[in-house]
Amino acid sequence: MPKLKEECGVFGIYSHVEASNLTYLGLHALQHRGQESAGIVTSDGVNLHNHRAMGLVSDIFTEEILSHLTGQNAIGHVRYSTTGSSQAKNMQPIVINYFRGALAIAHNGNLTNARTLREELEADGAIFQSTTDTEVIVHLIAKSKEETLLQRIIEALVKCKGAYSLLFLTPEAMVAARDPYGFRPLVMGKLGDSIVFASETCAFDLIEAEFIREIEPGEIVVVNENGVESFKPFGESKHAYCVFEYIYFARPDSFLTGRNVYQVRRALGRQLAIEQPADADIIVAVPDSGVPAAMGFSEESGLPLELGLLRSHYVGRTFIEPQQSIRNFGVRLKLNAIKEVLDGKRVVIVDDSIVRGTTSRKIVKMIRAAGAKEVHMRISSPPTKFSCYYGIDTPLKEELIANSLDIDEIRKYITSDSLGYLTLEGVMKAVDDTKKLNGESFCNACFSGKYPVELTDLKKTKQKQLGLFGG
Ligand code: SF4
Repeated sequence: MPKLKEECGVFGIYSHVEASNLTYLGLHALQHRGQESAGIVTSDGVNLHNHRAMGLVSDIFTEEILSHLTGQNAIGHVRYSTTGSSQAKNMQPIVINYFRGALAIAHNGNLTNARTLREELEADGAIFQSTTDTEVIVHLIAKSKEETLLQRIIEALVKCKGAYSLLFLTPEAMVAARDPYGFRPLVMGKLGDSIVFASETCAFDLIEAEFIREIEPGEIVVVNENGVESFKPFGESKHAYCVFEYIYFARPDSFLTGRNVYQVRRALGRQLAIEQPADADIIVAVPDSGVPAAMGFSEESGLPLELGLLRSHYVGRTFIEPQQSIRNFGVRLKLNAIKEVLDGKRVVIVDDSIVRGTTSRKIVKMIRAAGAKEVHMRISSPPTKFSCYYGIDTPLKEELIANSLDIDEIRKYITSDSLGYLTLEGVMKAVDDTKKLNGESFCNACFSGKYPVELTDLKKTKQKQLGLFGG
């Protein structure tokens, strides 16, 4: 059940006769990372061609549109807005023509000093066309006096703080870059002689590309007619892979840091059953994202997993609500409880997270209305108490239920008989159980409030507010 919004997904392919078609398929596999808009830019060696629109990948791109996207190199993007509202002007990839030629950029992440950089650039005369932080990177590159594209990208990225997994395309080259902390994933593969990049490995599976490796945190990879070259211009820093990618965002068939997401989620469920057991008859998953953790919970507890909640996969963006209002219509449209499974049972419901609590409350009510005797909510992550500033669209922390209520107060609000969250240590144990932690470190700021990269813009806003009030 989606509660937090995913961020964005990127895909790129260098040197393939079907570049635009394969990018279309790659984006299709990454659709879970963003459903608001999508775009593809191709290069024919001289010019860039692009098409972007609001909506889903399969609705936007027709055979005819793809046939106009000529050339053997392409990058694509699916977007859910993290900064910049969800408007057509913020669609990606961004394409510019500056005095050195054409450049396209696709970004997954969020810069924590974008507003500060933007103010500096605007003071210097820059005119922005969108409200995205990605455009800041474009301006920094265009402004650079450095000789090569690589040098200009490095000069720009050195100024950027926060999370970025980026793909650049020029008529001659493709460049992939990942921030020194590695917040958002980025992987490299090959398809015959072609090089491919994607946010997640599931995009490679669809086009039968072979996974080579992850782009390392702080690495820049340049692909051009001379081959593939790797650079590490930022020096070493502690990594901060987003742990929420395992819990909820990434697709279960993807691999992140060498771990299969499905297996991590299943391990999270097993650990949850150890930490938060429940005296119950059946386990029910909140589909789809809660399913692997529920399987793990069932495995560890020995309680049977039942299909007590069914999810409709055909909920459109707009629907007509009947005049006579139906209670909890939004949730009912997506989920339905199976009475025959739940009636008279003590039920454990497994979900991956609770954000505002409103959906969980509706689910508990739905399960009870189907006849459940007891409802025990189990969550395969710690309480989400803090907002994410690294590319995930979370509500303000004041809107996160766990920011203001303790666990028993949350339980009362969602009206369950019991409520249990996994500990942060439990999350890391599940990651380690799936594949030994090899000195890797993860971001867990939305649970702990410990932000690995300074929140420059936020700090400035707070200082300004203090100035206003104190002034
Ligand atoms: Fe991931 Fe949470 Fe860190 Fe954001 S704050 S990068 S969602 S772990």
